[in-house]
Amino acid sequence: MKQDELRKIPKMDQLLERPALRALCMESPRGGVREAVRLYLDELRLGLCSGTLEQLPSAEEMEAAICTAVHAACRYHLRPLINATGVVLHTNLGRAPLGDEIARHVSDVAAGYSNLEYRLEQGERGSRYAHVEELLCGLTGAEAALVVNNNAAAVFLMLNTLAKGKAAAVSRGELVEIGGSFRIPEIMAQSGAALVEVGTTNKTRVSDYAAALEQGAEVLLKVHASNFKLTGFTEEASVARLSALAQTYGAPLLYDLGSGFLIRPESVGLHDVGSIYVPDAVKQCDVVCFSGDKLAGGAQAGILLGKRELIERMKTNPLNRVLRIDKLTLAALEAVLRWYQDGKQALEKIPTLRMLRAGQDTLLERARALAARLADCAPALCFSAEPCLDEPGGGSLPAVTLPGGAVAVTGASPADLAARLRTGEPPVIGRIHRNRLLLSMRTLTADDEAALCSVFAALEGSR
Ligand SMILES: *Cc1c(COP(=O)(O)O)cnc(C)c1O
Repeated sequence: MKQDELRKIPKMDQLLERPALRALCMESPRGGVREAVRLYLDELRLGLCSGTLEQLPSAEEMEAAICTAVHAACRYHLRPLINATGVVLHTNLGRAPLGDEIARHVSDVAAGYSNLEYRLEQGERGSRYAHVEELLCGLTGAEAALVVNNNAAAVFLMLNTLAKGKAAAVSRGELVEIGGSFRIPEIMAQSGAALVEVGTTNKTRVSDYAAALEQGAEVLLKVHASNFKLTGFTEEASVARLSALAQTYGAPLLYDLGSGFLIRPESVGLHDVGSIYVPDAVKQCDVVCFSGDKLAGGAQAGILLGKRELIERMKTNPLNRVLRIDKLTLAALEAVLRWYQDGKQALEKIPTLRMLRAGQDTLLERARALAARLADCAPALCFSAEPCLDEPGGGSLPAVTLPGGAVAVTGASPADLAARLRTGEPPVIGRIHRNRLLLSMRTLTADDEAALCSVFAALEGSR
């Protein structure tokens, strides 16, 4: 019996003559298709010999399995997916999405040559920072600006340039770890700055910083506690009071904002979120830095703003070349910053701001409409709209939740559903809450919603 089946395994060339595989050879490299066929035939042989397979699949089944394998092998490893988690700046899912308009501009710049470091009027060498420096200064009131690869790099460059070999005072409540092993004490040590801890974990007063300055500290560093919240018996020195103190002692005040807002937080419905409105921080500090792809809603970058003389020193630090921003990021950043020039446009066009701002009523209404659409695509499952709690994410605003709306999917095991959605095309990442799979509306675009219909239809077809 086993011998009979083994003899029936088709030859590679026979299989390659099947219509679907012939078509596949036209669109994919022929070597890749042959390799997939060879692996598949090996698998059949092994299955028959070991007894895990009793009977050969039909020729049609073989053809379909090989096509699936070739398509999977040809797929990009890094590819788009649908974020249905309701976490707007999801660190594992690429933080801020840029949207179609900006992506098109980035793609234009990427496809060919550009004036990255070239002054068109003069026909001379130019600066890559020129594309965004004026925009950033105009939006924030800063004297000068510099952009680097990410905010971790910005913090490092700032400390290495302005605090190397000096004592820098930091509150014990702000010696934070951001994730990905970025810890303030370690980054300071690497930069050459000497950390002077002031205050306690829960309470740090202006007088604590003053005492450190009296004892020889030459720099003040403030760090936004991005991913945790101190509550209870706490006290923090305000940026305004630190600013006055820094001026008295002639020490620079450096502020790692982590996630800065280029628009007033109230305009996206966020109240009492602390001192993270960039123009306010710029007024009070000598240098401020923050991420381009957190609440700013742009591309991965570290943005440094502040006094001209200090920014110039950072520009000419040889490390700046190591931490340099690339042209695709610059293209994206310039495009986002242009939108900020008109607050109304920024709120409507920048995906991060649009998602943060979406109200629960609107989201629930969208959830009801999507649930009805999905019920038509996948009649074997149940879909219903319900309230949920979303998050800004990205270590930006700890303890802030955003009331939202989701489609709850029932009628199958949530873990099984979640796994099948993750491995589908495009992959869909949902959230399991109280033993049900939720698809939060906040982070879905209109295109995502349409794609979800096909995803669920395919899921149903493959059951
Ligand atoms: C996120 C964050 C960083 C690191 O920024 P990246 O852009 O991720 O490099 C540094 N400091 C603070 C306070 C942060 O919140």
